[in-house]
Parts: sequence; C-alpha cells; structure tokens
Amino acid sequence: MAQNGKTIALLVAAGSGSRAGTAVPKQYRRIGAKTLVAHALDHLRHPLVDEVRVVIGRGQEDLYRTALGDLPVPPSIPGGETRQESVRSGLEALCASGGAGAVLIHDAARPFVPAAVLDRLLTALRASDGAVPVLPVVDSLAHHGAHLGEPVDRSSLVRVQTPQAFRFAPILDAHRSWTGSSPATDDAQVARAAGLSVATVEGDHMLEKLTFADDFARAEQRLERRLVSRTAMGFDVHAFAHGETLWLGGILIPHSRGLSGHSDADVALHALTDALLGTIGAGDIGQHFPPSDPQWRGAASARFLEHAHRLIEERGGRIDHVDVTIICEAPKIGPHREAIRERIAALLRLPPERVSVKATTTERLGFTGRGEGIAAQALATVRLPERP
Ligand code: MG
Repeated sequence: MAQNGKTIALLVAAGSGSRAGTAVPKQYRRIGAKTLVAHALDHLRHPLVDEVRVVIGRGQEDLYRTALGDLPVPPSIPGGETRQESVRSGLEALCASGGAGAVLIHDAARPFVPAAVLDRLLTALRASDGAVPVLPVVDSLAHHGAHLGEPVDRSSLVRVQTPQAFRFAPILDAHRSWTGSSPATDDAQVARAAGLSVATVEGDHMLEKLTFADDFARAEQRLERRLVSRTAMGFDVHAFAHGETLWLGGILIPHSRGLSGHSDADVALHALTDALLGTIGAGDIGQHFPPSDPQWRGAASARFLEHAHRLIEERGGRIDHVDVTIICEAPKIGPHREAIRERIAALLRLPPERVSVKATTTERLGFTGRGEGIAAQALATVRLPERP
C-alpha cells in the first residue's frame, strides 16, 4: 500500500435513522444556517489537516450535495450498514487513493470540533498508534434492572468522544482483522482489540453527540450566542429627470418628476443595499450590478436588495434592523412612510418594527434643497457567525 504523510479527516455521515424526531437523517438537519455535516466540515478545517473525506449513506448523494450548499463538496465515499462498516469503507477508499500518514475518524453528529482538541490529538499521535478525546464521568453510575442496583465506581471511567486520531496503516489493519461478534461503537475499540496503543487527551463539551431533539435545541442556543453584531452604512444620490417615474423604497410614488439612473433609480433601496453589503464586506451595489451591464437597465431595485439579503443568509447571518433616511424637499415622504416600511420589511422578510424609515429636508440648502435630486442614507445591523 502506498503511504504518504498526509493527515486526512474521515467524516462519517452515513446514518439513516433519526432519534432527533425529524424525517431527514440528523446529519442533514440544520442548526442555524447550516446542516450538521456542513458545520462538521467547517470545523475540521485546521492547518494540520490536509484533506477531509466524507462517508455518506447509500442513496444520500443528493441530500449530501444539497446539505453543503455553496461550500466546496469533497467527493463522498459510500458507507455501509453499520458505523463500523462505514469507517472501514472510508479507510479502504483512502487506501485505494494513496493512503495517508494519519487519519482523524469523526462523527458528523459531533459537528463543533474545537481546534484545540485537534491540536492535542495530533500531538499525542506522535507517541502512540492512536489518540482519543475523553471527558470524566460526572454523574453517579449504577447497575439497573427492575430497581436501582449496585453503584459503579466512576473514578476509573471516562466518556470517549470523536474525532479519534490514528496512524493510518495500523488502524486500517485493525479494521481488516476485527473479529468481534458485535459491531464496535468506536474505532478506539477496534484499535485496542488489535493491540494498538491508544492515548487519551482532554475532550471538550462542544463535542457532545447530538442525538435527541433537546440536543439540537441546545446547540441552536449555543450558536446564537456565538453570533457577532455588525453595522454598516450606505449612501446614494440620484438626480431628478422629467419623463421618469419615481420609485422610492420599493414603492411607486406619484410625483411630477422621477429619478434618473440605469435601474429604476430607487435611491432608498440602493443606499440600503449598500448598507447590507457593507455588513459582510461584500463591496458595493455597482460591483454586483454594474451600470455598464444592459441587463440591469430599468431593473427593479428590489432585486438588488434581495440579492444582498441572500448573501448575508448564505454566510449564516440574519438582519437585526435597518434604518433608512430619505433626504429631499419634495415629494413629502410622510404619507408614504408606512407603505415604504412595509415594502422593505416584506422584501427582507422582517417584521415592520425592525425597519425604520425617516425623511428630512436640507432646509432648501444644497442640491436636495434646490430640488435637483434625492439623497438617501441607510444603516443595517446584522448578526453573523463568528466563524462563517
Ligand atoms: Mg444608485
């Protein structure tokens, strides 16, 4: 077998059942903006991990591709009936494509791998055939039949988590030579049965396995706390022109003049689109919809706003609040304010109380004061995952 020095993470996402109370297998269930398998892939990105391969259940290819959205999709490996068979399939596939120096075998049901655990595992692997993360048992333990039985001494017991790190060739041999009558519940068990040395390193509560509906709810809450707030502003101006219609805040407003521009020239939605793009550092509206591109001639600016919103959602973000100020002498914005607010709220799928629309004049000073055009400013506040 060819060997190389690569460290490959083998993510096992082949389960078909769900004790979490959902129709889809749990690795394809969403937590926040992403599926479990996508979170797990994200967290396996580590300077010492050269490659990640994913073992999926047979017939789950479409679910797998959909689950990763726009993320790069590592080629999948078809799994088996049990977890152990799936790991074996994964190891055989790695062997067939050149082997590895070390492999990290990990379950998608523990998606939030701290980088520090990967550091500890790979350090321990230098002196051992395998290394696993463990946590102490904190609850009292006892045998149980019809009634509570004898207590079990917990001081010598640990809870074993994944990822588990192994030197590649020995763990592949251990799987090939497994003769246990029932499937092993983890790879450390397979390694130990083959006489390999398995070191332990400190595990992490972030690696608790997600099994039941409650576990998912707790993970959602944890993720929520890890969102950071970002605020950005946008500004735009368009000049009045005769023979144009006036679009403002996504609403057609009856007025003697409209605004000129390449699209529908909705100055308020343009400022707001720029503010939203600013929260994720995604440039400005002109980069996404160049005025030189004929396809945006007369385009409804609602599309620009929805595009910026979609980019935020794709990064796992959500909009908290937007605030738009329209600056002009005429038309009077007051009579249209609620309609604009509701239109923006509908476009961004926000409750109207999280959308603010204000208007002001510039006391007849400057270009807005002379009635040459309309200016708009916007602020947007979003919450984004710390680690997108
Ligand atoms: Mg503009």
